[in-house]
Amino acid sequence: MEKYSALKLIRHALESNRKWPRAWRRPEPARQYDAVVVGGGGHGLATAYYLASQHGMRRIAVLEKGWIGGGNTARNTTIVRSNYLWTEASLLYEKSLQLWETLSQELNYNIMFSQRGVYNLGHTLQDMRDIERRVAANRLNGIDAEVVSPEQIKAAIPIINTSREARYPILGASLQRRAGVARHDAVAWAFARAADALGVDIIEQCEVQGIDCQGGRVTGLQTSRGPIATGRVGLVVAGHASVVADMAGLRLPLESHPLQAFVSEPLRPLLDTVVMSNAVHGYASQSDKGELVIGAGIDAYNGYGQRGSFHTIEHAMQAMVELFPCFSRVRMLRLWGGIVDVSPDACPIIGKTPVEGLYLNCGWGTGGFKATPGSGWVLAHTMAHDDPHELNAPFGLERFTTGALIDEHGAAAVAH
Ligand SMILES: Cc1cc2nc3c(=O)[nH]c(=O)nc-3n(C[C@H](O)[C@H](O)[C@H](O)COP(=O)(O)OP(=O)(O)OC[C@H]3O[C@@H](n4cnc5c(N)ncnc54)[C@H](O)[C@@H]3O)c2cc1C
Repeated sequence: MEKYSALKLIRHALESNRKWPRAWRRPEPARQYDAVVVGGGGHGLATAYYLASQHGMRRIAVLEKGWIGGGNTARNTTIVRSNYLWTEASLLYEKSLQLWETLSQELNYNIMFSQRGVYNLGHTLQDMRDIERRVAANRLNGIDAEVVSPEQIKAAIPIINTSREARYPILGASLQRRAGVARHDAVAWAFARAADALGVDIIEQCEVQGIDCQGGRVTGLQTSRGPIATGRVGLVVAGHASVVADMAGLRLPLESHPLQAFVSEPLRPLLDTVVMSNAVHGYASQSDKGELVIGAGIDAYNGYGQRGSFHTIEHAMQAMVELFPCFSRVRMLRLWGGIVDVSPDACPIIGKTPVEGLYLNCGWGTGGFKATPGSGWVLAHTMAHDDPHELNAPFGLERFTTGALIDEHGAAAVAH
């Protein structure tokens, strides 16, 4: 009887491979994938989706340390536009905007993309010169853009304060009518569901803790849920790119900063467009639920705390009340922060790295939500062909040594 129990125990232990003391256990075989995307935000999920849908790859995994869309993807203020100054940036963002325009249909998921227009206000003569220059550059690149007067702004947005007596009087604005907003977390869910339907493994609660390299190329990943073997890894971990790239011995020219936003109690419809101002450091739109969605500039210090300082929010609030005096009676409901990684030229890094098979997508700073489909599309191309697409070729790491920077501070800054 005793002998029978011992045999049963051994058989059970062999089957489960769990009851053996650690030293006797067979090592866990590494799971094998053709491509792994680290980071289950919108960009990572979009990359996996396009790898499967555009490049026919199947053995793909997305590894997310928390839950999908729990990072910046669901913490941002959802502004989507493409009116950047330089040709390289505007073409990349325009590709993204074009993908947004048909994304609900393509993914069969209502991402609530609403092209309600975005106004970037000018408050000084120099602001207006910059706006005119940017609008002219946009039009040369085939991107819709126009300069509008204070009277046109007032006619479109009756609640805005266009008084000449204001501390920062409004002298005009750029307007991109095809720009707008979308529902942020729906974008992550939509890409996840579509990628899953194509066979992509989406693994949550799986933190990447190490990157294995041999002979200058990537061979796998060490994760909180065991090792994974793969020869192709995309790092899409906004805010934490330097930390994860460091696991492969790469030092990135990025700084991580908190960026905050807040929403008001729900109100009846009163703002049907998006208004942004670099000079007063704030911007606002109204969500479909009726909340005013208000964003601020980044906190000036580096950090990973997902919360920022109060004075930044106070400053944005002052700016909003100045632009929209009727907001002074509104109560605020929620406040949160995300961690954004900012590059020296306020442009992303998307491309290859000195480690073969290791690719980067980071450095979007305050403005990567708008790029979600476009960035996934170009990174998937880069990973599938081991060569960047012409749209992301100018955004490689090497620009920080060649000096070919694409400085978008004027069109990015607080105005995401
Ligand atoms: C307050 C705020 C307002 C913003 N407003 C706008 C806006 O209006 N318009 C705009 O275009 N952009 C905006 N942005 C920027 C935008 O949110 C980001 O650029 C964009 O969402 C980045 O997307 P992502 O998918 O790369 O990042 P994320 O959604 O952050 O995804 C990265 C994921 O990587 C995971 N991860 C990190 N480390 C690891 C690891 N070791 N292992 C596994 N997973 C890991 C994280 O958990 C996270 O889920 C804003 C950002 C903030 C914070």
